[in-house]
Amino acid sequence: MSSEVHPGSPAAPLTILVVDDQNASRVALSAELDRCGHRVLEADSADWALELFRRHRPDLVLLDVEMPGHDGYWAAREMRAAEPGGWTPIIFLSQRDQERDIWQAIEAGGDDYLIKPVLGMVLHAKLRAMHRLAQMRERLVLLSDELRSANAQLHELSTVDGLTGLMNRRALDESLHSELELARREQQPLTLMLCDVDHFKRFNDRQGHVEGDACLRQVAQLLRDTCRRPADRAARYGGEEFALLLPRTPRSGAMTYARALMRLVAQRQILHPDSPVAPHITLSGGITTCVPDASTTAEGLLLRADDALYTAKAQGRNRFFSYEMQMDTEEQRPQLPR
Ligand code: GH3
Ligand code: MG
Ligand code: MG
Ligand code: MG
Repeated sequence: MSSEVHPGSPAAPLTILVVDDQNASRVALSAELDRCGHRVLEADSADWALELFRRHRPDLVLLDVEMPGHDGYWAAREMRAAEPGGWTPIIFLSQRDQERDIWQAIEAGGDDYLIKPVLGMVLHAKLRAMHRLAQMRERLVLLSDELRSANAQLHELSTVDGLTGLMNRRALDESLHSELELARREQQPLTLMLCDVDHFKRFNDRQGHVEGDACLRQVAQLLRDTCRRPADRAARYGGEEFALLLPRTPRSGAMTYARALMRLVAQRQILHPDSPVAPHITLSGGITTCVPDASTTAEGLLLRADDALYTAKAQGRNRFFSYEMQMDTEEQRPQLPR
């Protein structure tokens, strides 16, 4: 902070646009500002002022009201329009001192109004006040930008699984609720699958957690690859469990999808020597499909998918079981209902 007492000494040199059609008063004002170390741009008309404003983006504008051609009000409105989202302080200067004039000036986008001739001390005090406001506004804009990006980061953190980059359980729950509503409105089938890596504890025990994590990332990528339609969603539901949300997918389509997914998993050949099911990593899955009615809930769908997953595990793993069809990917005929 400067400890100088001279009222004309600026806290920081500003670029100031001085607009006045009368040479004498413009030159006097400019000289005074110049004497105090400010950089001055001069315009003798509203049009030229606007041109200089666009070109140089001054820190502040001192704007005469009455000018031939466009007046100061017009210039202020044009300047405001030229900086959407921005704000350059504009101080009107006029010989007119009626309340209506002041009102009109503020209406046109001015921030203050000084009556000519302006006393040096008053002028410098106003410059400082306006500059202070501009700096405060700048800090606020910066802060709200930072807040916005912090919020975006937080949202990302709260919806994305850190290990695999898939949606996390929370995001899946949100998607499940909204897709359920959509399917109910459109009376379209919605499929939910829960997949679980078979005997993954043994994989970890043999290969270690780092390899285990890498394996989960590969499975995640594979699930991502199988989501062909834009509305299909893969999520990490937790641990070695994943979920697939497939809008507009009927029961038979879900079975086809599951078989294709199993083929892909087998082709990927992520070796799992300790698995009694296959020499490579395999998945078991539970499928539920419905055209939702008034009584269908997200929780209900998750319960059914989980129930079906349990059956797939019990029937030998490396298969997907459909709750509604009571049939798994290994068989061709439907089973009797349980
Ligand atoms: P099942 O065929 O019945 O599913 O057997 P499982 O061994 O896969 O199931 P269990 O629930 O007994 O064990 C799951 C294991 O998954 C336990 C844990 O070691 C492993 N796991 C869970 N989350 C992670 C993870 O983020 N990273 C790694 N590396 N392993 C995980
Ligand atoms: Mg004038
Ligand atoms: Mg599990
Ligand atoms: Mg498992």
